[in-house]
Amino acid sequence: MYFTETESLSKKLAQEALGYKEQGFDAMKMKVGLNIEKDIENVKAVRQAIGSDIDLMIDANHAYSLTEAMKLARAVESYQISWFEEPVSPEYYSSYSQLRKTTSIPIAGGECEYLRFGFLHLFQQQCVDIAQPDICAAGGLTEVKRIADMAYTFGVDLVPHTWGTGIAVSAAMHLIANIDMPGSRLNNADALMELDRTENPLRDELVQPTFSPHNGRLQIPNEPGLGVNVNEDALKRYLLK
Ligand SMILES: [Mg+2]
Repeated sequence: MYFTETESLSKKLAQEALGYKEQGFDAMKMKVGLNIEKDIENVKAVRQAIGSDIDLMIDANHAYSLTEAMKLARAVESYQISWFEEPVSPEYYSSYSQLRKTTSIPIAGGECEYLRFGFLHLFQQQCVDIAQPDICAAGGLTEVKRIADMAYTFGVDLVPHTWGTGIAVSAAMHLIANIDMPGSRLNNADALMELDRTENPLRDELVQPTFSPHNGRLQIPNEPGLGVNVNEDALKRYLLK
């Protein structure tokens, strides 16, 4: 869920969140970073609207300093936040690890990190509970599989940052389906997949089949390769002229 500065924002976000709940999603992420007071108001409104059964994550896209991020984390801890994503600028590894030590909210990050060498910094400095490599930016499927193996070795969860085209969505689904799950558990938690719901024809028209979640779940295509074909007509429509 995103925001533009507008009147009654918390009410609008709460309505949007309720719509996703009705569609069967049982996890959702909302943007924060407007300012701390408004973020708290918005998070509270969304949590009250969706109830306690839905996972709720927040993403600041590095809007805050360490002290601001600590303040926000403290204020929203009681709203059952599943992760706080990119609280501070990605270069501030020590701020990540300091924040992580001061809050019970799991810390997520890594969409601006590249290759296994970048993620090694995140892991060695204990910056994140959830690593979020972007397959299209961090080095491709093979490199992100290496990053996933490294995350597993450090005991860090991995949920890829997934944005952009239907090709990126399909690549992420296949990677997620191939990530090692923690052992010694009778039932593993459901795998999570980031699926932006804002309007995006490059996601929804560029490949066939298109990805429509049913009851909050996506079906992984089982055709060869990424399981999708580029829709040449759509490609032509969106070519830069
Ligand atoms: Mg993000």
